[in-house]
Amino acid sequence: MDGRLRSLWDPGADEPLDGFVDRVPAWIRSTLGYCSRCGSPLALGEIPGEHRERLVCEACGFIAYVNPRLVVTTLPLTDSGELVLLRRAIEPAYGTWAQPGGFLEADETAIQGAVRETLEETGLVVAPTSIVGLYSQPRSAVVVAVFEATIIGGEAQVTDEALEVATFRADALPWPSIGLDTTRWALRDWVRSRGVTPPDPDRP
Ligand SMILES: [Zn+2]
Repeated sequence: MDGRLRSLWDPGADEPLDGFVDRVPAWIRSTLGYCSRCGSPLALGEIPGEHRERLVCEACGFIAYVNPRLVVTTLPLTDSGELVLLRRAIEPAYGTWAQPGGFLEADETAIQGAVRETLEETGLVVAPTSIVGLYSQPRSAVVVAVFEATIIGGEAQVTDEALEVATFRADALPWPSIGLDTTRWALRDWVRSRGVTPPDPDRP
């Protein structure tokens, strides 16, 4: 092995992998053992031309960049302006309230993905009208896009991904039962846009 590189998986490695472990969440680390091009083990280290340590395949030179994933979500609004939320039936934050959404597919636009995920999770057909915000969560290596949306069809229903689907007024959101930071941040921005002061503004 090149002296500048160290194995990701050799427990006897001289240099600790702390920086990498801190930067890259476990769910992504667990997918990064081997080169996706040739199958050789990946190593971590400094690569000419790169400005930070990279995962590289010494056999074929492939660099495995570790990038966040985009999560596309909506805040569906009823005719009377109430917000539809679901109680998550999946981890992380199982059982807490959140907006519908999920990972964007490579062959769809952000709007298409948000509409698709909302239908899959709540049974509602929505039309996004504006963006509430974009919320980075480096700890989980995700960026969450949140669109406000009008409900134009479908019927709210419990799904494999939602234990419960319910509507809430902007001044009566279930704040103590919101589990995801990105959901709390987005809902704070959204209620402010409707003239409501959110609780715990100092909490991250
Ligand atoms: Zn390779």
